[in-house]
Amino acid sequence: MTATLPATVPIPRRPDARDPRPGLSSLGEADLRAWLAERGEPGYRARQILRAVWQGLATTSGEMRTLPRSLWSAVDGAFRVDTIAETELRIADGGRTEKGLHLLSDGSLIESVLMHDPARAGSRERHTVCISSQAGCAVGCPFCATGELGFRRDLETAEILDQVRAAARRLRADGRRLTNVVFMGMGEPLLNLDRVLEAVTALSDPARFGLGARHITVSTSGVVPGIRRLTALGPQFTLAISLHAARDPLRDVLVPLNRRWPVAEVVAAARDHARATGRRVSYEYTMISGVNDTDEDAHALAELLRGELAHVNLIPMNPVAHTPWIASPLWVVERLAGRLRAAGIPVTIRRSRGQEIGAACGQLAAERAGEPPAPVVARRRERIVAASVAALRGERSREPLVAGMGE
Ligand code: SAH
Ligand code: SF4
Repeated sequence: MTATLPATVPIPRRPDARDPRPGLSSLGEADLRAWLAERGEPGYRARQILRAVWQGLATTSGEMRTLPRSLWSAVDGAFRVDTIAETELRIADGGRTEKGLHLLSDGSLIESVLMHDPARAGSRERHTVCISSQAGCAVGCPFCATGELGFRRDLETAEILDQVRAAARRLRADGRRLTNVVFMGMGEPLLNLDRVLEAVTALSDPARFGLGARHITVSTSGVVPGIRRLTALGPQFTLAISLHAARDPLRDVLVPLNRRWPVAEVVAAARDHARATGRRVSYEYTMISGVNDTDEDAHALAELLRGELAHVNLIPMNPVAHTPWIASPLWVVERLAGRLRAAGIPVTIRRSRGQEIGAACGQLAAERAGEPPAPVVARRRERIVAASVAALRGERSREPLVAGMGE
């Protein structure tokens, strides 16, 4: 269901304002069978519920037509059929990008983006949804709107999955199907890894969403223990690493988690992952003019990834309020791509999508949170400029750029 949110969404102060009923989409067949058995209902109804949730994409119990009416109220008493209370949609790029701002039961706002790519020679048309794993993010990358918002909470498994079901429902209205899911929305997926893994299991389960693991990508800013845990589990999805800088002093500023797990450790974990799973790791590199797009960066990046089972995505930075930075011009992006290709590293240049609707996740939620007062914005910009100027000289600062993300 699509509704328009009021201009100011009231945000409950108490954390217990959250609806305590679990989201129905987080349950697998065994959980549903156990719940049905408690109520003296036959086990085959578990399959009926799963079909209603995953093929029927139900948002209310009343849409579960194969269930007896008496079960509708039981379902509602125990579960939320949809954990997304309301969604505001914004469409851009002539309909090729749809951004959803979702309101959750405790007033948290999260975002998902549905992108449509037409068929090209050798590839079928794609419909990709980019979903959030947390409300806000604690990592605090200064070029990211979500980082600016700070961390609010981890998403529940069903809150992650219901973003996918919402996208699939929008596509179904036009007779289309979702082909890809990427965890590149708000939040750091590897800091909510148990729930992200549960969500991936549901998405790839043939009895639920049935999306092949090759069509799921999870992006991380470099949580090394999380990457190592994924490697031990074997291939579950494509892993993407948000690199953004090949040199520690600069990456300390751009991705503050680098102070805990520096570039060499992140790339070593990614290399082991690629070798153990036989799957190429992709590296995301957001290009910021005059900051991480210099000759020195190109050289450091080519040396870092030479010989790796890797692929680099170069993404011109989406403009974000409160940062002093702008995207690298296209010729600079192409120059870096050329340097990497010369070193034998495959590269793709990704065009930013839906800039007019703020398609870098977190921008709509940041807009809703309101602009901080001008002096706060000015101080923040000054700190970012000072930190990046020092980093470009090769100095590693010990001062945390973001509260709580120091050593
Ligand atoms: N927290 C995870 C996943 C969510 S962010 C991570 O950082 O990997 C998904 C991607 O969007 C990351 O590569 C992130 O660096 C990138 N991104 C964030 N803000 C951006 C901006 N303003 N312009 C371009 N890319 C951005
Ligand atoms: Fe968090 Fe990713 Fe944004 Fe960094 S880029 S603040 S890790 S969501």
